[in-house]
Amino acid sequence: MSAASQALRTARSTGREIGLTVLERGRWTSYSACGIPYWVAGDVPDPAALVARTPEQHRAAGIDVRVGTEAVEVDLHTRVVHARDLATGHVEHLGFDQLVVATGAVPIRPELPGVWADGVHGLQTLDDGIALLDTLAGRHPQRAVVVGAGYIGVEVAEAFSRRGLQTTVVDQAPEPMTTLDPDMGARVHTQMEQMGIDVRTSTAVDGFEVGPDGWVRAVHVGADTLPADVVVLGIGVRANVALAAAAGLPLGDSGGLRVDRRQSVVGHEGVWAAGDCVESFDRVSQSWRHIPLGTHANRQGRVLGTNLGGGYATFPGIVGTAISKVCDLEIARTGLDERGATASGIAYATGTVDSTTVAGYMPGATLMTVKVLAERGTARLLGAQIVGQGPGAGKRIDACALALWNEMTADDLAMADLAYAPPFSPVWDPVQIAARRAAEAARL
Ligand SMILES: Cc1cc2nc3c(=O)[nH]c(=O)nc-3n(C[C@H](O)[C@H](O)[C@H](O)COP(=O)(O)OP(=O)(O)OC[C@H]3O[C@@H](n4cnc5c(N)ncnc54)[C@H](O)[C@@H]3O)c2cc1C
Repeated sequence: MSAASQALRTARSTGREIGLTVLERGRWTSYSACGIPYWVAGDVPDPAALVARTPEQHRAAGIDVRVGTEAVEVDLHTRVVHARDLATGHVEHLGFDQLVVATGAVPIRPELPGVWADGVHGLQTLDDGIALLDTLAGRHPQRAVVVGAGYIGVEVAEAFSRRGLQTTVVDQAPEPMTTLDPDMGARVHTQMEQMGIDVRTSTAVDGFEVGPDGWVRAVHVGADTLPADVVVLGIGVRANVALAAAAGLPLGDSGGLRVDRRQSVVGHEGVWAAGDCVESFDRVSQSWRHIPLGTHANRQGRVLGTNLGGGYATFPGIVGTAISKVCDLEIARTGLDERGATASGIAYATGTVDSTTVAGYMPGATLMTVKVLAERGTARLLGAQIVGQGPGAGKRIDACALALWNEMTADDLAMADLAYAPPFSPVWDPVQIAARRAAEAARL
């Protein structure tokens, strides 16, 4: 919808008319999936609050949005999309001059025994949120198991724990949040345990025990059985490219569609793609990666829409910045972690500091840890990670992200003119101390 709206704006600004049809198999448009865990937690009153623009509003703006309609086949030779009305089964054949693929991602649901039982939820769409809230309201579960300790898993764990459910998070990785290095993930682990959330790492799920009524009642993990009245799966997503691949569009090594800097699908003029279904250029590793985030999808959609509407725009790439939280613990990262640096063949050094969010003598000073990675020899900034009690710990990642974006060294970041007053930070911000340590280590 971001691409469609921008295409319309761009075309109109140059006095041109374009006809835009959007096919959406669901019933909602332009909503914040990112807000779903906070709706489940009770911070957001109802799903309508998460919807930025309804199909009716888009139609009023001049976009022919067809909800409940699935694109089932794309023929690039005849330039026709076959679209099925999911209510009637009727298939319509829509010709096009230009095609946009923005099919998002599909959540991974491993074929384990009992994985389709009632009470085992995914959490990707507003309807998934409605189904989960129905389970919470109708069955009054006491014990919840969250499978996967990535950002969606920890946010759902927060929601359950705040609703008073006894919550266990299971992940096969050695520490939660595998987008962090394990030493930083270990800090998340400890703090989640202190919040009363049971965290089982290095633990793979073997299956789900289902009661005679068809509802989940336990999760099998090795020799252990974890009783569960409700389960949420948060084990990641992959690019939703089945339709595009069947049409012959090219995929990269990461599994996402291959696009150029204008979001045009490589080798296919007049075919565009953006969001969770594409791979993006990572400015730090200089490689194409699949990092499905709303921040990338929105920016890519705008670039795509400008080009589609007859203008010219390029997507400048990503550095892999993300933020999340579990209760008052803020978790943020940007750039390469140790594994990513090694995979990119970059020798690195690290600097870590345990400090406080504000001057230590101020009320409300809470603990935070910052880790910075710098390239050995040059001290080029490679990445940063933050784990700390909020408010105010996690959003410091934006200073690191901007430094990374502008190819600064760790020394540059250590000496940057950042804001200071005691209620906001120590005189040397923890980010700067970690950067200085990383720079020193990089030059050893
Ligand atoms: C619970 C949750 C929390 C998140 N939190 C954050 C966050 O805090 N920060 C962040 O940056 N990102 C977050 N994200 C990720 C973010 O929501 C996605 O990156 C973003 O929605 C991707 O946008 P998109 O348009 O590419 O895909 P989507 O928003 O998934 O849209 C794709 C649409 O295509 C439709 N579709 C697919 N195939 C077809 C077809 N064949 N025919 C018709 N319609 C089709 C789907 O129904 C879907 O509506 C979160 C995601 C979830 C699920």
